[in-house]
Amino acid sequence: MLQIGYLVSGGIITNYKCSSRCRHCCYSSSPQWPNDYMTPSMADEIFRILKGLGCRSVHIGGGEPLLRPDKILAVLEVAKKNGVHIEYIETNASWYKDEASTHAILKDLKRCGVHTLLISIDPYHNEHIPFWKVKALMAACSKAGIEVFPWLMDFWPDIEAMDDSKPHSLDEYVQLFGRDYLLRLAKRYGLNLKGRALKTYRPMMKKQPFEQVLRQSRPCRLLSGVYHFHVDLYGNFVPQSCPGLSIPLKELVRGADPGRYRVFYALETEGVKGLVELAMKEYGFEPQAEYAGDCDLCYDIRNYLVLERGLDLPDLKPEGHYRYV
Ligand code: SF4
Ligand code: SF4
Repeated sequence: MLQIGYLVSGGIITNYKCSSRCRHCCYSSSPQWPNDYMTPSMADEIFRILKGLGCRSVHIGGGEPLLRPDKILAVLEVAKKNGVHIEYIETNASWYKDEASTHAILKDLKRCGVHTLLISIDPYHNEHIPFWKVKALMAACSKAGIEVFPWLMDFWPDIEAMDDSKPHSLDEYVQLFGRDYLLRLAKRYGLNLKGRALKTYRPMMKKQPFEQVLRQSRPCRLLSGVYHFHVDLYGNFVPQSCPGLSIPLKELVRGADPGRYRVFYALETEGVKGLVELAMKEYGFEPQAEYAGDCDLCYDIRNYLVLERGLDLPDLKPEGHYRYV
């Protein structure tokens, strides 16, 4: 059985839809996603299960969670009712319009028990969001008595070197800071090379023969990330660092049938080698000669199953992770 007995701390993904389409986004969020937001009844189910598993605090992420403040406020009310503490909400600041409307939103968040916003600060976000909005939101938080968790201050001087009234492409950063800037950026950020981040960086990554990647395969232990798991708006448990894979949280608590979640089970127990065997034997997958490591191979198979074969596999959800990359 695939099962979890306890969880310590993680995140709630209230929506995958986002105002941005950052090139480092491991969730492949973008404006293309449907207008789906976590409902209060789903939030209630999730918070009750999390509490039962020993998890009493979570952060909220997305997508952009503050795209629709009314939707997030309803989720926060439910968290409060269930006694689950909100550590912070992640935001990209794109929704900042003016001081008055922002103050009203911050006041509502505070009333619902939110005392910290994690505000994204990096050149990837700056491709879509002018820096003045980030600065203005930070100032508004300070006025409203909301803490700011700046992620990451290390990039402030890079972004400050540009005109803050408009967004700037990564090409502009490369022109200013040198040809290897994109690679250095990934390292400084500690990038999780999944989803769109993998798509962005794959052309720059060293390739290995398929057989060599298989030889190095290890179990992925998708259920062991009890400190940084996510649960999404559809009630799915999303393993730490591996979006696009999921099992309904309520099933994982009782014990999910490995026969139903075969992709997840193969990766959990054998790693990409197990997934290759399953995909070749059952679904006619044919590997390429070379891959940029096991996650690249894993994504090639998952993309094949979801996009090329059009299979509706319960553990390869949400489909948008593959479709909107
Ligand atoms: S990194 Fe954040 S802001 Fe950027 S697309 Fe992903 S969810 Fe949206
Ligand atoms: S091989 Fe697949 S499941 Fe394992 S870490 Fe990489 S992307 Fe995640």
